[in-house]
Amino acid sequence: MLNLNKAQQACNKPADSGCSFAVLNYHRVMPIHTFWNEQVLDVGVFEQQLLQLKRFFRVLSLEQALQLASQGKVPVNAVVITIDDGFADCYDHIFPLLQRYQLPATFFFFFQGIQQGYLWENQIANAILQAPAEISTLQLQNLTFATADKTERHRSIVAITDLIKYHPMAQRNQLIADLIAQTGVPQMHHEFVTAEQLKQMAAAGMTIGAHTVHHPILSLESAETARAEIIQSKAILEQILAQPVHYFAYPNGKFAIDFSDEHVAQVRDSGFAAAFCTDWGQARPTQECRFRLRRFTPWDRNPWFFSLRLALHIVAERYSIRFLKEWVGTHGN
Ligand SMILES: [Zn+2]
Repeated sequence: MLNLNKAQQACNKPADSGCSFAVLNYHRVMPIHTFWNEQVLDVGVFEQQLLQLKRFFRVLSLEQALQLASQGKVPVNAVVITIDDGFADCYDHIFPLLQRYQLPATFFFFFQGIQQGYLWENQIANAILQAPAEISTLQLQNLTFATADKTERHRSIVAITDLIKYHPMAQRNQLIADLIAQTGVPQMHHEFVTAEQLKQMAAAGMTIGAHTVHHPILSLESAETARAEIIQSKAILEQILAQPVHYFAYPNGKFAIDFSDEHVAQVRDSGFAAAFCTDWGQARPTQECRFRLRRFTPWDRNPWFFSLRLALHIVAERYSIRFLKEWVGTHGN
């Protein structure tokens, strides 16, 4: 792990009131019957959360939040909604609900998803789910994964995805090729938004940000590869949208693990105005911290617990109440 530096410590401090805001981070929202991964949120649960946000919080666009923060005028209950990756759910489920309730949001897309229709990890899920029934185990890096029934297959998808995640892109692709060789070539479904849908979302007022080209963990790649991933993702999206792209989100997004100060500098030098990590906290767009804005997403499926946890998070961060921060950030199970 890389060392925490001075700027990291500065970003941990409470900001002056009116200068920080909460940022929620979503990935996938689907009907419950297609649910197989605990990170997937049911459409109905997501809608309940939007209603709670509309009722008790001030949902701002990212531009509004940054503007108000620069003036020290962010309302205490301000929330910015972000959605990472660009799965088809963004257009099919999230975007219509945002429009229905007139809520702004920021979407971070990585280009390979738009271009080929799937993320590297979708290849793992598809290969395992479509493997012939008689395949009851898979071998990868001297480990055995059970795939005899649906439950085992779902478990193995999660385990194999975690195993492959922390490899540089070249090795990641090799491991996936090994897996596909054992299961047979799966038919890949287009699971991402298309360029046309992306344009529609931008035209409807949604903010579109970049999230690299291939979704690598930047700290595992060379400096040149990381820089190219950052610069190209901005340029390609700008070409599709015919408008500037100002914001970036680091893949996986844990500072000092998934990216470092070197990548923060690369993002800043590439002409972005701000960038998001996945470390928990309030976004504080100061000079030192605007390229490492933090996010926090309550995991509660009950809408009232969701609101309560979000409100307590804001209070704990605003007044720097350590025990409350710890309590808010602790999973109950
Ligand atoms: Zn991502």
